[in-house]
Amino acid sequence: MKVSVSMLSSYLYCSRKLFLQKVLAVEEPPKESLVLGTLRHEIYDFINQSEEKIVTSITKKIQYGELISLYKTFYSRALRERIIKNKSKIKEVHIGLVDVFKRTWPLILEEAEIRAKNIFDFMQKYNIYGSKLWEKLTPKIISEQRVDSDELQLRGIIDRIEVYESGYVPIELKTGKMPKEGIWPGHRVQVVAYAMLIEERFKTSVMEGFVRYLDAKETRQIAINPFMREEVINLIKGVQELLKNQQLPDYCENKNKCANCGLKQTCYNESEVSALLPEIQ
Ligand code: SF4
Repeated sequence: MKVSVSMLSSYLYCSRKLFLQKVLAVEEPPKESLVLGTLRHEIYDFINQSEEKIVTSITKKIQYGELISLYKTFYSRALRERIIKNKSKIKEVHIGLVDVFKRTWPLILEEAEIRAKNIFDFMQKYNIYGSKLWEKLTPKIISEQRVDSDELQLRGIIDRIEVYESGYVPIELKTGKMPKEGIWPGHRVQVVAYAMLIEERFKTSVMEGFVRYLDAKETRQIAINPFMREEVINLIKGVQELLKNQQLPDYCENKNKCANCGLKQTCYNESEVSALLPEIQ
């Protein structure tokens, strides 16, 4: 049975939570962070998909100011359109549409500046434009790439893959709090799992990956080692067993996790959980 990469990080966080969601079909109430996270994923996907169109539209030398305003126009329109598309979900978590724009725009603007700078430097260095500029430009970015593997029994959607002449680099885009050092364990597992899926799909080796903490505007690297790969294999087996055996796991030990958990009410309501259990047995 194939499992998803997001299940691995959920299992690592709390196996009981994964059981409640996937076996007992308990749904987490909509959260502001989830709605904003989904919106950001959509807009980053659009940004990546539209990159070729923007780059090939530059047919002659232009100044940096002109280039950044081209990006800003494109991205601000796209953000407004995505907010309108998601307006019912946004309303469910009681945030105003203008507020969503104000909170999301700085992240999108930063992305525009990074891309405009990269392209401007490329134009200066190679003096090429239009389709030639696009052909030569690195890194190329693949977004929201679906990957799956019969061998690993794993599937997932990778936020972003940057393709350099030297190889493929998976990048996870994360909203919310960043750890003081390194990356959160669940994020590490995701990056390593995606690296393994990329290796199989593109017949290559992936030695590193990154997590981009969008709110903190910081990107952190992870050098992938054999222990991490083994951890992913063990987690896949753990999730498969959890789904197959249908045994409700105990509460997680770290009560801070429970304090922030969207399923806390159901999880600690023994009669509600007991009522759901016979349905699967
Ligand atoms: S409340 Fe705690 S034990 Fe229950 S699902 Fe959430 S994190 Fe796990």
